[in-house]
Amino acid sequence: MKILIATHNPGKLKEYRDLLADLSTGAESLEWVLLTDLGIETDVEETGQTFEENARLKAAAYAQESGLLTLADDSGLEVDALGGAPGVRSARYAGPGASDSDRYQKLLHELEGVPLEARTARFRCVVAVSTPDGEIHTASGDCPGQIAFEPCGSFGFGYDPVFYMPDRGQTMAEVAPEVKNRISHRARALEAIKPTLADLLHRFGGG
Ligand code: IMP
Repeated sequence: MKILIATHNPGKLKEYRDLLADLSTGAESLEWVLLTDLGIETDVEETGQTFEENARLKAAAYAQESGLLTLADDSGLEVDALGGAPGVRSARYAGPGASDSDRYQKLLHELEGVPLEARTARFRCVVAVSTPDGEIHTASGDCPGQIAFEPCGSFGFGYDPVFYMPDRGQTMAEVAPEVKNRISHRARALEAIKPTLADLLHRFGGG
């Protein structure tokens, strides 16, 4: 059975490949397909107010367009000193055409003068699975940390270089990809959706 991984974000895609390689162990009939494999270029507008709403929107739209069971996520960074911003606007935080570095530099600027103990934050991810006829299930995952004073590390993507994890003494961009894929918000959300995915595959003829 084919399952569509619905993201255009190359950083997420790389992580999904690794995370799902592990998740699909034992289900030989599973085949993961990408939007590019299907020639789908549609960009679903993220009009929701929450990660959950946006994840549902994306999964449902791409499932309808592709006719396949579809997995999508919405994710981002919540910073307590900024009242939860950038939150659902994480990808758009520094406006259109901005780079990952533009976005985290803007964040560092907004937090100038804020001491370490008040720089608490978390990555959040909501994963949604939708059937082509619109049955949707979701699960979420968090990863707690603090916003560093300057970027460090070159792994990962997005805000990883400024996301400091005090228990490890490293930013998310300093830990190896296989470590991030054990501890990240995305890894936790996917782990949480696994039983639902197994159930859907069973019902829809994949396992
Ligand atoms: P969206 O889920 O495509 O709306 O965008 C999520 C945005 O949040 C990304 O473009 C990144 O800026 C940020 N983000 C989500 N997950 C991560 C992560 O694992 N590391 C760093 N930044 C992330």
